[in-house]
Amino acid sequence: MSDRLQRFVLRNAPVRGELVSLDLSWSEVVIRHALPPSVRNQLGELAAAGLLLAATLKFEGKLILQIHGKGPVSLYVVECDASGRFRATVKLRADTPVPDDATLDQLVNADGDGRFVVTLDPGPGAGQTYQGIVPFDGGTIAKALEHYMARSEQLPTRLWLAADEHRATGLLLQRLPDHGGKAGRGEGAAIDEDGWDRMNHLADTVSAEELLTLPANEVLRRLFWQETLEGREDRACRFECSCNRTKVGAMLKMLGRAEIDEVLAEQSRVTVHCDFCNQAYEFDAVDCAELFATDHPDLRPPGSEALN
Ligand SMILES: [Zn+2]
Repeated sequence: MSDRLQRFVLRNAPVRGELVSLDLSWSEVVIRHALPPSVRNQLGELAAAGLLLAATLKFEGKLILQIHGKGPVSLYVVECDASGRFRATVKLRADTPVPDDATLDQLVNADGDGRFVVTLDPGPGAGQTYQGIVPFDGGTIAKALEHYMARSEQLPTRLWLAADEHRATGLLLQRLPDHGGKAGRGEGAAIDEDGWDRMNHLADTVSAEELLTLPANEVLRRLFWQETLEGREDRACRFECSCNRTKVGAMLKMLGRAEIDEVLAEQSRVTVHCDFCNQAYEFDAVDCAELFATDHPDLRPPGSEALN
């Protein structure tokens, strides 16, 4: 069962958990970007973390995690939603070498200026976008997110993440409010006060190798075999990019006619690669004239209707 996110609650305790394991969908990201291993693995951890967090939200829109860095990586971006769709990308600084064993701090926070940005985008017409920006700290994606959750006074949350070229994976535990509903609470049963601490100690024993090599069910069995996990459900996760020609056209239009004409004069066509999926979109002179034709009908070249 790969490319799935499993949810569970601990019986009689205000603790919920999730485990995500991305294989095929993570490969789709890996093959689209030629990334140094250290950069790639951190992106995988961020993708796993994004899906885990999105699944904790009662929220239908997009969750966007970004790390703005000053080192060899200028930007990490992961976009995902609660239905398990995600896409991810990295912007590297040209001419800045990346050591194979670079730590996340070396990649994005060499001078302590890294920023971690969390955005909740409910989608067009569905309410206000929320954005939280905090200094990047903690040295790992998991610690940075845990600190963010603590700073923004959200539910206590712990994460264990790992990624390599084949898999991006992670485990999340979250402490629910003590009176946070009936989830996992048997009729008349006493609350298991130690549940949160116990689950954390058990999860702290998981190794990156276990996360990266074992089937998700086996990870849960090895860690929590003495515990009763209830309410188990799982959902599929998949790589999906939302780019399309119309959106790229709108972006070119925003750059303005003068800038587009400059590129056309040099290269005879404008080529845009999607940052996320690397799909190439090409616009020749006629396509570009079409883009601006709505605003400036007289700029449409003769016969362009027939060509499209
Ligand atoms: Zn795309």
